[in-house]
Amino acid sequence: MGLLEGKRILVAGVTMDSSIGFAVAKVAQEQGAEVLISNFGRALSITKRIAKRLPVEPPVLDLDVTNQEHLDGLADAVREHFGADATLDGVVHSIAFGNPETLLGGKFLDGPWEDVAQAVQVSAYSLKSLAMATKPILAPGAGIVGLTFDATVAWPAYDWMGVAKAALESTNRYLARYLGPEGIRVNLVSAGPLRTIAAKAIPGFEQLDAMWSDRSPLGWDNTDQEPTAKAVCALLSDFFPATTGEIVHVDGGYHAMGA
Ligand code: NAD
Repeated sequence: MGLLEGKRILVAGVTMDSSIGFAVAKVAQEQGAEVLISNFGRALSITKRIAKRLPVEPPVLDLDVTNQEHLDGLADAVREHFGADATLDGVVHSIAFGNPETLLGGKFLDGPWEDVAQAVQVSAYSLKSLAMATKPILAPGAGIVGLTFDATVAWPAYDWMGVAKAALESTNRYLARYLGPEGIRVNLVSAGPLRTIAAKAIPGFEQLDAMWSDRSPLGWDNTDQEPTAKAVCALLSDFFPATTGEIVHVDGGYHAMGA
């Protein structure tokens, strides 16, 4: 029996088959879950094509996490696919955006507030937005899992996205505090660098690649999303019933090494 047998999971933030969200949807289906995926705007048509590459083609929802109408309609949209009384057992937040031209790749000292505000809204505040939009239909014991890139230190090129990730990590802890009494767990997976569209859009992010595989005791394959996806699915499963506000590193062990 799969780890997620009988569970219903929404994975928000799937564009390509390189997306971490795609790997999460694939592992979740392999582990017995019924999955819905989402994306927004022009990329939605790509997601609809890519969805066919999953073991079972999932419904694709249009969800811009900065659009209040989309958020307000999310629970109904989920129920349209899963049934009028259906609940969700898991929600995956695999979403981030920061303008690469103004905020990333060495632009830290000049990053304008409007773009920083957008990065924080899309990449951090949206974890709260997504949690609240799905809360009315979350099953007892449900798990919410997001993706971060270790925000405890300053990286080359990551710049304002690092600040947005620090906000995401703090949002994770506060959501755990406020939703724990309702039996909802909220956790993050902190992944090492992976070659996705989001990562390729960060000028200079590839500098981290060589360094990462050299320093990680387990080594690191930046083209393999599966270890990260498996950790997300494990956190969504019943095997972490007493874990919330946590950040699980899936980075080859890089974060624990001094040099
Ligand atoms: P990706 O580009 O495949 O996924 C990011 C997704 O966010 C896309 O599907 C995009 O359309 C979506 N998105 C952006 N703005 C949105 C909005 N307003 N509403 C809804 N969706 C929106 O890249 P990825 O690397 O798979 O990123 C997924 C998550 O993993 C992000 O939080 C990212 O920061 C995190 N992460 C990535 C890496 C890496 O090296 N790739 C490492 C650690 C953490």
